Amino acid sequence: MIGFIVGFTPIAVAGAFALWTRVDRRPEIINLLDASPTSKRHKRSKGFDAVVLHQTGFSRGNDPTRYRKVTAHFVILPDGKIIQLHPLSAKLWAADGFNNRSVSIEFAGNFKAATGKWWSPDKYGADEPTPAQIQAGRALLRMLKSIGIRHVFAHRQSSAKRGNDPGPQIWASVGEWAIRSLELDNGGPNYAIGGGSPIPDQWRRPTP
Ligand SMILES: [Zn+2]
Repeated sequence: MIGFIVGFTPIAVAGAFALWTRVDRRPEIINLLDASPTSKRHKRSKGFDAVVLHQTGFSRGNDPTRYRKVTAHFVILPDGKIIQLHPLSAKLWAADGFNNRSVSIEFAGNFKAATGKWWSPDKYGADEPTPAQIQAGRALLRMLKSIGIRHVFAHRQSSAKRGNDPGPQIWASVGEWAIRSLELDNGGPNYAIGGGSPIPDQWRRPTP
């Protein structure tokens, strides 16, 4: 079941455009909408204009069905597969104060902090984002920009409890890339809401 983003009709127009431009960059998306709990879906009071990047904090490998209960619109697996769990029209309790305006993307893995240390590696593993995951993340952001996304945020920016979400590696390689290459806005150096924290300088450097 491979398809374009579900729940957003103008994608057909964008898709036709992509056919003669850069179809090679359009990622395949595995549709798990029917396998995900609909109870997680709420009504947005306005349209979305932002993406929030996350890390799951665990890995269950590359079987898409093992992630179907994750609260996010998309999950990107270690092998680069992109799964869609909820329609973009749904507001999810995924990113605190950004929920109403955002689409959430989770990268599967327990990724280290800027200190070089992992959270409870004995229990949750010690993962590194894979090149396939990073490429898939970039391709997905490129596509979301084509349907109106203008901002990219880290969950850290809206949550006091998620200081390492998505962590320096995902942020530097996907978030900063999107600011540079897609010209997405991040709110500026000190931007945070609702008890969250700004992006630290160490996150803005390229992945070591
Ligand atoms: Zn998060």
